[in-house]
Amino acid sequence: LIEIHNVHKSFHGVEVLKGIDLTVHPGEVIALLGPSGSGKSTLLRTINHLETVDAGSVTVDDEFIGYELRGGKLHELREREILRRRTQVGIVFQNFHLFPHLTAVENITEAPLALKRLSKSDARELALSLLDRVGLADKADAYPRQLSGGQQQRVAIARALALQPKVLLFDEPTSALDPELVGEVLDVIRDLAKLGTTLVIVTHEIGFAREVADRVVFLDQGRIVEQGTPAEVLTRPKNPRTQEFLAKVL
Ligand code: ATP
Ligand code: MG
Repeated sequence: LIEIHNVHKSFHGVEVLKGIDLTVHPGEVIALLGPSGSGKSTLLRTINHLETVDAGSVTVDDEFIGYELRGGKLHELREREILRRRTQVGIVFQNFHLFPHLTAVENITEAPLALKRLSKSDARELALSLLDRVGLADKADAYPRQLSGGQQQRVAIARALALQPKVLLFDEPTSALDPELVGEVLDVIRDLAKLGTTLVIVTHEIGFAREVADRVVFLDQGRIVEQGTPAEVLTRPKNPRTQEFLAKVL
């Protein structure tokens, strides 16, 4: 489903992704772990072209999200086409990023109304069913400031699902939450995993990664240094960098 091939990315001459190769299969749940600054967010953001790449390529279902091939070279697409292709890849951020002036339903319907041929009433119906799925049927007309962090994050997940993406990316979805709110968000992600949704999750919740991930990928200094099943990587890590990291976070 996702093919990441030899991706390099630098910021101001500092290379933060140093040749990443990764394939994500349909229905797979990948937990992306690694120390702060190892490039996890940058890698995630290259998948939906929130970040350009300096070399290499990323495809989703054989399609470049941000580029087209012309004359044997990749050229960046126009914004409108990028937006259209980006609907295939949902993303949920650490800090929810909801529109503060829009209600829960309006946050969810905004993109489908702009990008898909949907009537207002169909869009609202879709939003209500998604809110029901994340346990927030009663919060349809609440504004973000009237919601807890956990509730806001669940609205953000519903919003990401509204465009029926092929894959959902999570960048530390519970890091900004009070501890007692983490569980309700992890429950929603766990349900998505059970339904066979393809997920790539950057997380420091090692227990959760062990439970839901089919594969754990460990990134260090811009390189994938180890990957395998949760048992392989989390219980019997081979790489000294993985061992050191796990010793610190467990
Ligand atoms: P964390 O666990 O702290 O979120 P991370 O693994 O997600 O870390 P990235 O956010 O991908 O790491 O950052 C990797 C490196 O790239 C860091 O050194 C960071 O400072 C740098 N970086 C990321 N985005 C930018 C940017 N837009 N401009 C300049 N440097 C950046
Ligand atoms: Mg990050």
